Amino acid sequence: MLGLVIRLLLCAGWLSRSPTGPGATGYTLMPAASTGRQRSTKQRGGGGLTVAPAEDWVVRTAEQVRAEAERRHSGRPPTCASGISPSGPVHLGNLRELMVPHLVADQVRRNGAHGTADCRHILSWDDYDRFRRVPAGFDESFAEHVGRPLTAVPDPCGEHGNWAEHFKEPLRAALAELGVRVTEISQTQMYTSGAYTGQIITAMRRRSDIETVLVRYQTKRAADPDDDEPRAAAAYYPFRPYCAACGRDDTTVTAFDDDTTEISYTCACGAAIGPLPIAEVAGKLVWKVDWPMRWAYEQVTFEPAGVDHSSPGSSFTVGGELVREIFGGEMPLHFAYSFVGTSGSAKMSGSRGGAPTPADALEIFEAPLLRWLYARRRPEQAITLAFDAEVGRVYDEWDKLTRQVADGEADPLRQAVWARSAGTADGLLPATPRPLPFRTLASVADITAGDQVQILRIVRDLTIGDPVTSLAQVRPRLDCAQAWVTGYLTPQERTQVRAEPDAATLAALSGEERDAVKLLTEGMTADWSLEGLTTLLYGIPKLQRGMTIDAKPTDEIKKAQRAWFILLYQLLIGKDTGPRLPTLLLAVGQDRIRSLLTPGAA
Ligand SMILES: [Zn+2]
Ligand SMILES: [Zn+2]
Repeated sequence: MLGLVIRLLLCAGWLSRSPTGPGATGYTLMPAASTGRQRSTKQRGGGGLTVAPAEDWVVRTAEQVRAEAERRHSGRPPTCASGISPSGPVHLGNLRELMVPHLVADQVRRNGAHGTADCRHILSWDDYDRFRRVPAGFDESFAEHVGRPLTAVPDPCGEHGNWAEHFKEPLRAALAELGVRVTEISQTQMYTSGAYTGQIITAMRRRSDIETVLVRYQTKRAADPDDDEPRAAAAYYPFRPYCAACGRDDTTVTAFDDDTTEISYTCACGAAIGPLPIAEVAGKLVWKVDWPMRWAYEQVTFEPAGVDHSSPGSSFTVGGELVREIFGGEMPLHFAYSFVGTSGSAKMSGSRGGAPTPADALEIFEAPLLRWLYARRRPEQAITLAFDAEVGRVYDEWDKLTRQVADGEADPLRQAVWARSAGTADGLLPATPRPLPFRTLASVADITAGDQVQILRIVRDLTIGDPVTSLAQVRPRLDCAQAWVTGYLTPQERTQVRAEPDAATLAALSGEERDAVKLLTEGMTADWSLEGLTTLLYGIPKLQRGMTIDAKPTDEIKKAQRAWFILLYQLLIGKDTGPRLPTLLLAVGQDRIRSLLTPGAA
């Protein structure tokens, strides 16, 4: 009955909706599966079961996943699945392939009474896929290995076991920092250990049934060398050997004996191998057969897919038929998730090659905040991660939500989203003990050029009511701010306090300007704090016009304030804009302010 309900929900499901128009944003879009699941470029998603939208999609999906697992194999935990091809740097778009199942698996785990409800979240490394091409930024000499399994390609840096491992390691570290608990499954390990031999023999014996299904969904496409589709001219085999002579998969199966399970193949390198028992032959099932085989093998309950892969004839649709007909399993519950784009990362992209990775993001965003950037969006909504000045605003939003949750002022949905960002079923993630505004810390890091002693002095001045006593209290946020300042601000955006007073400008000050500077240098000592300096800076133009310091500013006053601030920026840092002035003053310090603002004082 439940299965029927879920089936009916398909009609109103997400796949029929158009996703939040990612093309219209003008951001760099990263198709969520462009390095994850490379074979799936021939479309995935589409018909079959889907999970319904809800106000809290995580809770709703988790309930459906648990109920579906109970129906399929009562008493055993559900399995949520992610798949990543470690063929190149795993970028932030691919992180959604992990975060969506993670949030659902984590919710199932949270729902367990006293930890009774476990949920498996498998990360299937497609590391037995063929090396298709040398990614941008890597030596062209690796082209020699095209056609070999990713785990048979040498490590580009010399510190890892192989090519695949080189790209797995940073993602693995990022997942640990993000609290994403996964069970890793290496497809190389599975295939080479013989775990799938029974399934491979089944697929080979039933090749004509498989071919019938594939042909039914076949659509006309441009020729693709990696296409697994049956060719009219050749006999169809769903297994592609890795050549015993050259290690590449430029192979053609020439015979398979259903009774003895012996296979023969030839290779473009000239080798002719076999007949040999297929259990002794390296190779893998073609993608459209491999995927449903694994759904059945791992009993996958839930596996979402990138929205760019939802269409009829996709490997998801085809897999849905094959998993039942050939492997006696069931299709996972699934839905499509939308794109992840980035903005303001052009500088980094230029210097490191390619789109930013989760490790890059974790240098800038605290782990709970990065989780939140994924958790706060529904799967069908596109996500944009900004690395420019937006970073400060995102931190402010997160801090505001954190305060609202602490004060009991957040509505239940926002509170739930906060909770699944701040921690997991395993507990809260580490957070910055004294979360000063990111923008303030960035300014401090910028102005001091990272000098730890100076930073502590300023941070103490910024918190005089309850002073920060050690920089550990503002970490890791301080480190994120420091990394952002050095990695994402251009030299023009950086702040450099003048070494010498700007004598020419000082000499040319009008009487009114001279007066304003005097009001500042004489008044700042009275309340040397963020609040005191803010009031004074905004108040000086008012005082000069006979108003009180806390009077409501008129348009004329606002104009005067702007001119006054520009003058100060010019005198202190030689630009029209910069960090917030009160922060800047605190950072520069009283003596240096006096020397830079007073003619002849130096
Ligand atoms: Zn390496
Ligand atoms: Zn060969």
